[in-house]
Amino acid sequence: MPSGSLILTIDQGTTSTRAIVFDESACPIGSAQQELRQIFPQSGWVEHDPVEIAEAAIGVARLALEDANATAADVAAMGITNQRETTVIWERATGRPLANAIVWQDHRTAEICNGLSDAGLADDIWSRTGLIVDPYFSATKMRWMLDHLPIPNLQARAEIGDVRLGTVDSWLIDQLTRGSSNTPQDDVPHLTDVTNASRTMLLNIHDLTWDPELLEIFNIPEAALPTPLPSAGTFAVTHPSICGRAIPITGVAGDQHAALYGQACFARGDMKCTYGTGAFLLANNGANLDLFTGAAGSGQLTADDLDEANAGLLFTLGWQAGGSKIYALEASIFNTGSTMQWLRDGLGIIANAEESSDIAVLLGDNDGVYLVPAFSGLGSPHWDPHARASITGMSRGTTKDHVIRAALESTAYQVKEVVDIMDSQLRMPRRGNRRERVLRVDGGQTRNPFLMQFQADLLDRPIEVSAVDETTALGATFLAGRAAGIWRSDRELAMLWQCDRRYEPEMSESERIRLMSGWNEALRRTKTGFRE
Ligand code: ADP
Repeated sequence: MPSGSLILTIDQGTTSTRAIVFDESACPIGSAQQELRQIFPQSGWVEHDPVEIAEAAIGVARLALEDANATAADVAAMGITNQRETTVIWERATGRPLANAIVWQDHRTAEICNGLSDAGLADDIWSRTGLIVDPYFSATKMRWMLDHLPIPNLQARAEIGDVRLGTVDSWLIDQLTRGSSNTPQDDVPHLTDVTNASRTMLLNIHDLTWDPELLEIFNIPEAALPTPLPSAGTFAVTHPSICGRAIPITGVAGDQHAALYGQACFARGDMKCTYGTGAFLLANNGANLDLFTGAAGSGQLTADDLDEANAGLLFTLGWQAGGSKIYALEASIFNTGSTMQWLRDGLGIIANAEESSDIAVLLGDNDGVYLVPAFSGLGSPHWDPHARASITGMSRGTTKDHVIRAALESTAYQVKEVVDIMDSQLRMPRRGNRRERVLRVDGGQTRNPFLMQFQADLLDRPIEVSAVDETTALGATFLAGRAAGIWRSDRELAMLWQCDRRYEPEMSESERIRLMSGWNEALRRTKTGFRE
């Protein structure tokens, strides 16, 4: 093994922290993983312990190197990818957290969001950030911390940069560069990458700097915030005590952005979907933010774009690397894989998610039974936080197998809805009757053959499952490796991407229409405001 050509990537997710060592062909050669404790102090609140996150990240990084039979001397660079929006607050000098992190799923700031919408600020916030006002994003979590933590003079301390606010990437960079010394330090870098910053609701998505108007609206002091940097480039160097030798951190991106890069979605219109607890669909929207690209495009979000955004998608940053930035459209669907967990743990009608595929295939048809998994409201494209899950269309002949099939189908319907909206917004050319491009997929639910075939059928486009399971980590690795000079172009990266399985659409148009109209009816009955 040539010395110094490996990439060590940390993937800090919502439920676990992983580290993977990749070689120069982007093949994983060692890994380690640790579960992360979920803390639910009150209904609607979700927290993580930042110290547990940092210790896990350092622990799995060391174990992954061991697993790869490598040392830090073999590593050229480190990549970091992370759960987005989750917000941490800590002291600059000591690196000590002042509270638990508020996780992206936490809804405690719903009232703050209602206040912003009532004050008529939603459109202005949207045109600066591309985001819909929702507790999901970091700004209201930061506001909540500064207002409610029982710590004297918190706002004043944030104003002089004595207290730091940041997403999980910033927290990890701080902890990985600080080392274990207990002596207060003033020069530990406070950094983020632009994709993570774009999810705070404080970054101006046009010029990728903290927006003075937004900082004022949320009353967040810039001195407490990290400096946003491109996703590929030298961020900092890890403290030698972390892995036995300093490693440059050269690639950082939020998990979904990293997955878009890791799926080699480099051309405008390329789409990926990550099917985990929820499903996250991102499409490369090219170098211009607005939907009406080309010579006529203004490069800014316009009222026309706002109309389109009312279709329920987020405008976000894809990545910034190699001197250029790529924008993306995003759909966040909150409940997909979690529905399978509910079948197993809540209803006890499956022993594990794997067996659901054969059950659904054997059943042959859904017999008109639909499950709308609005367990925590509906995200894209409906943004209905008050909707609750439903099962409709049952008859006396309905069995648990129908519910299992309906649960699997619900993932595919939800993704179909947002792919259709993205297709029309991106205005991609058609070839024959079929969209030109495939959908690249990753995540736990891609191990379900029934679901993947059903998804290809509903979308009427081929689906490609990536050979590397950990596409999120792969994306951060690609970014880190580009900045470290291991790979020189997106073209080179595209050649490294490998397909494991491909599903071709086989369903007739009439069947697709029949199924979708059943889904739409079930959805209509589930959304808030339904009246018979
Ligand atoms: P996350 O990163 O969000 O924790 P993963 O990508 O690890 O998620 O995927 C885990 C999710 O995928 C779980 O919710 C699980 O129910 C679902 N899942 C795992 N295997 C299957 C399967 N064979 N069929 C359907 N769903 C599955």
